[in-house]
Amino acid sequence: MSLITSIYMGTPVATPSISISRLRSKLKGRVITPQDADYDAVRIGISRDSVRRPALIVRAMDSNDVAHVVTLANEAGMELAIRSGGHSLAGFSTSEGGIVLDLSQMKVMDIDVSDRTVWAETGLTAGEFTNEMAKYGLATGFGDAASVGIGGLTTGGGIGFLVRKYGMTIDNVLAAEVVTADGRIRYVDANNDPDLFWAIRGGGSNFGIVTKFKFRLHPVNIIVGGILVLPAQADVLAAFAAQAEAAPDELSTIVNVMPAPPLPFIPPQFHGQLVALALLVYTGDVEEGLRVVAPFRKLAEPIVDLINPMPYPAMYLPEDPNHIAAAAIRSKFINQIDERTAQIMLDQLNSSDAPVRIAQFRVLGGAMARVPADATAFALRSSRAMVNFIVEYANRDEADIHSAWASKALAALEQDAGVYVNFVANEGQARVHQAYPDATFERLAEIKAKYDPTNFFRRNHNIAPKAK
Ligand SMILES: Cc1cc2nc3c(=O)[nH]c(=O)nc-3n(C[C@H](O)[C@H](O)[C@H](O)COP(=O)(O)OP(=O)(O)OC[C@H]3O[C@@H](n4cnc5c(N)ncnc54)[C@H](O)[C@@H]3O)c2cc1C
Repeated sequence: MSLITSIYMGTPVATPSISISRLRSKLKGRVITPQDADYDAVRIGISRDSVRRPALIVRAMDSNDVAHVVTLANEAGMELAIRSGGHSLAGFSTSEGGIVLDLSQMKVMDIDVSDRTVWAETGLTAGEFTNEMAKYGLATGFGDAASVGIGGLTTGGGIGFLVRKYGMTIDNVLAAEVVTADGRIRYVDANNDPDLFWAIRGGGSNFGIVTKFKFRLHPVNIIVGGILVLPAQADVLAAFAAQAEAAPDELSTIVNVMPAPPLPFIPPQFHGQLVALALLVYTGDVEEGLRVVAPFRKLAEPIVDLINPMPYPAMYLPEDPNHIAAAAIRSKFINQIDERTAQIMLDQLNSSDAPVRIAQFRVLGGAMARVPADATAFALRSSRAMVNFIVEYANRDEADIHSAWASKALAALEQDAGVYVNFVANEGQARVHQAYPDATFERLAEIKAKYDPTNFFRRNHNIAPKAK
């Protein structure tokens, strides 16, 4: 039994404080144990899953810290959870009795403006990255929430506000620094460990810990976008989807059909009533953008129309850092959002009384679809739309009820074209496999066997090493 395991289990050992202090002396970052006064506060803050109690939380400061902890956890046989933004929908960013490697202090950005590239450490959130790059009129696309970590989002794929114009986040990764299970710090790109470079773009955290990514940046300054709230009617939703599909790549959209939240800009009579809260981003010429969004404004009498030219980071809505609700989510790609599909979404929403229940759809295509299916570990390139059923809730005793509802709602949509791994919850191995066509899954399992033959990185949507 390793010293650290002994400490966690409360077994008397001769020099427990020395072993922790030794660990502390080797790391630049902080080591937090259950004996620390702020252990509970840190533990609860690191993950959407606040129940688990890790033996150690290590706040790494650089890739040497990361390599050291990987080696230590591997030698001790302890579970290692990786935490970037802490938004894992399956609760993978924490561990019961294992080590949490918290990357959130690693936020260095090294931008080359003339080259339009940036090396960014993976402790950054999408919002932090986006705000900093906006100072140069540049951006890489992430998701729809500022607080999501670029580590988890990018290793899984990344589908957000710029997806139709500039592809998925992984389509803009040029290189990475990765700590593998053997504790090595590797520089990977198309020429160096190209198989590993392929796998970390969509295969999740199975292959190593990415400490920094080199991203391609695009000129994104003033966009035409914002919030458009329309009536939640099947014909309006279907017409929105058709319009979004016909729109130029410069426009990406996300529609949340949900009870209207009590926000000041939404008229009170709609609060709690189902509405379609759409987020639109047009990146390109402002006049042209206004022309492209005009038909969306005419689909029905808007309840709220906040579509305007605005700085790109303004698309990220303010979030309360102290409010980390639990979420139940079920997701899949589908081929078409027609009136029948839209009506099923509305019927499903009407079958729950959860205050925050959402049927979200995103019309895809554009640059995302033009990347060859075998270029990265995300292969479901021809997916035309993604649908997510989501419930956010405060009372964790309700978890099963909301997960069951989300599963039932998803199943009611007859179409099924696979799933995006970053929106898979705790749904079992078969569901993880559905994120990858067989050939992709097989290749990932081979690469896993090469870089992580003991399946050390297993607190994730796991891809087991291919048996020899
Ligand atoms: C509110 C919300 C909105 C979202 N919106 C979008 C969206 O618009 N588009 C989209 O694509 N996704 C979206 N997601 C899904 C999101 O991409 C995933 O939940 C993602 O895994 C979160 O990353 P994280 O770093 O915040 O989470 P964490 O919990 O820190 O990590 C999640 C997983 O990634 C692994 N991981 C984290 N960092 C690293 C790293 N540096 N190296 C290797 N593995 C790592 C962890 O092991 C864990 O398995 C959303 C999620 C939430 C909760």
